Amino acid sequence: MRRNAAKDTAFSCDCGSLHGRVTARGANTGTRVVCYCRDCRAGLLYFGQPDPAPDPVEILQMAPEEIKIDGGAEHLALMQLSPRGMLRWYARCCNAPIATTSRTPKFPFAGFIVQRMLDTSGLGPITTRGFVPQPNGKQSHEKLGPAIYGMLTRVAKSRLSGSWKETPFFDAETGDPVATPTILSKTERAALYP
Ligand SMILES: [Zn+2]
Ligand SMILES: [Zn+2]
Repeated sequence: MRRNAAKDTAFSCDCGSLHGRVTARGANTGTRVVCYCRDCRAGLLYFGQPDPAPDPVEILQMAPEEIKIDGGAEHLALMQLSPRGMLRWYARCCNAPIATTSRTPKFPFAGFIVQRMLDTSGLGPITTRGFVPQPNGKQSHEKLGPAIYGMLTRVAKSRLSGSWKETPFFDAETGDPVATPTILSKTERAALYP
């Protein structure tokens, strides 16, 4: 599981206005996964991205504080598929999805959209596959263990060290997200689940 990204991995929105990097530490301690779930797909469709299906969405599960925004942070905007849904962060300038986070900074978890990175050579191999369609019509997870272990380890370290407060997505003092979420209506949501 240990990897050795030597340097930070750059990312940007499609138009380049919002840009930053995933730190080497973030890449080394993250879990690279692919997800076939309906919400990941709906999230991309909402932002007018190409439909990933039948392929999955590639995500780096990581500590939010290891995502550094170096420019254009004012474009950071927020969407939720439902009132209790995960926070889906995107760049308002060009509708590029950036990352998904939990609803509170006190559970420091981010799923970074790998598609935002120009060069993924600093990332480790894909270890986990979520919601994989099965021949019987059901879905199952492959190698969920490393993803859960990775998440719990990162959350514990982040909480103990206090580094969770360095998240770019929340005001650590108030716990409020830095953008006001657009929450989809039932009708809007239904249109995203073909
Ligand atoms: Zn942009
Ligand atoms: Zn998913």
